[in-house]
Amino acid sequence: MGAQQVADRFAELYGAGPEGVWAAPGRVNLIGEHTDYNDGFVMPFALPHQVVAAVSRRTDGVLRLHSADIGGDITELRLDDLAPGGDHDWTAYPAGVVWALREAGHEITGADVHLASTVPTGAGLSSSAALEVVIALALNDLYDLGLKGWRLARLCQRAENVYVGAPTGIMDQTASACCEAGHALFLDTRDLSQQQIPFDLAAQGLRLLVVDTQVKHAHSGGEYGKRRAGCEKGAALLGVDALRDIPYDGLDAALARLGDEEEVVRLVRHVVTENERVERTVALLRSGDPRAIGPVLTEGHASLRDDFRISCPELDLVVDTALVGGALGARMTGGGFGGSAIVLAEAADVETLTKSVEEAFAAAGLTAPRVFEAVPSAGARRLV
Ligand code: ADP
Ligand code: MG
Repeated sequence: MGAQQVADRFAELYGAGPEGVWAAPGRVNLIGEHTDYNDGFVMPFALPHQVVAAVSRRTDGVLRLHSADIGGDITELRLDDLAPGGDHDWTAYPAGVVWALREAGHEITGADVHLASTVPTGAGLSSSAALEVVIALALNDLYDLGLKGWRLARLCQRAENVYVGAPTGIMDQTASACCEAGHALFLDTRDLSQQQIPFDLAAQGLRLLVVDTQVKHAHSGGEYGKRRAGCEKGAALLGVDALRDIPYDGLDAALARLGDEEEVVRLVRHVVTENERVERTVALLRSGDPRAIGPVLTEGHASLRDDFRISCPELDLVVDTALVGGALGARMTGGGFGGSAIVLAEAADVETLTKSVEEAFAAAGLTAPRVFEAVPSAGARRLV
């Protein structure tokens, strides 16, 4: 999606060219799943897929929104009418960002927006965060708000949590706002400290495939809430603020204290071991050994499948088929119950692996998955 194309369409819709054009990417989480609401570690990287938005300021308290991917008429909203809750369509994401900025005391007097995206929606690749971040960054630059990095991400998270009503952690917005090309972002969700970890796969003869299963099982929302509540229960039973506070070498003792709380035991085990897997991945990448993270990814999948219990047959099929086909590692990524899996493989094996996953889906009578290569790409930025 070219900046010029989006700017040209903006001019057609609104009668004059935009003041600027911005982009914000979707993301894939390499490792660190369901740790973000436990104050733990995550490690996403940005995709080349992004939302591109052309934006101009207005002075009359009006927000006008248009998406090339939705089509139809321009949506016109009055800033003073923006309020959380209620039935929202896609415009809740950008409107929520404007609401969150104003609520935080930033003076926004209106905007015209036209956007277009290459981030697949509902595939666990965070098209919603990309949409929020691109709007926040555009308004930040145009209104000179001085917001950067996690501060910008926090406001976008607030838009999604409060305005849209989706209880998500801070990872997606931070990834979209802060990632750098050729790197994965090691993020501590407790204090939001971050480190860019070199993750240049192509230079090492490696590829990371994203396999979008194109399934989304309907109960995913409720199950997310249950896992979150279960983790909170675990922390309360163990007398800590968050499961992050259980060290890996104290895991056995913690599980023993939980006794016959079987479900809580499984959830706690996943979160504590997953934090350790993130730290191990960081160490392996720092030591220049990206191939060695393959088994860590696969361990993570087993933990999500057996302990956290949020995988599904389609995701397991991707992982199992990829591993049989010689992948270095594979795991589901994102919230679970559908969405996407990632596969780490030698560049030379990509074609046969892709074919074998496609064949396995066809043989199981499933919709063909969408397979693409994920190149660690730049975070949100101004294009024009
Ligand atoms: P994910 O973030 O995993 O892609 P979500 O359900 O959180 O899935 O967000 C998807 C929603 O974000 C879409 O249903 C739509 O409302 C909004 N959205 C994403 N991309 C666009 C776009 N290009 N144009 C309009 N709305 C979009
Ligand atoms: Mg989302």
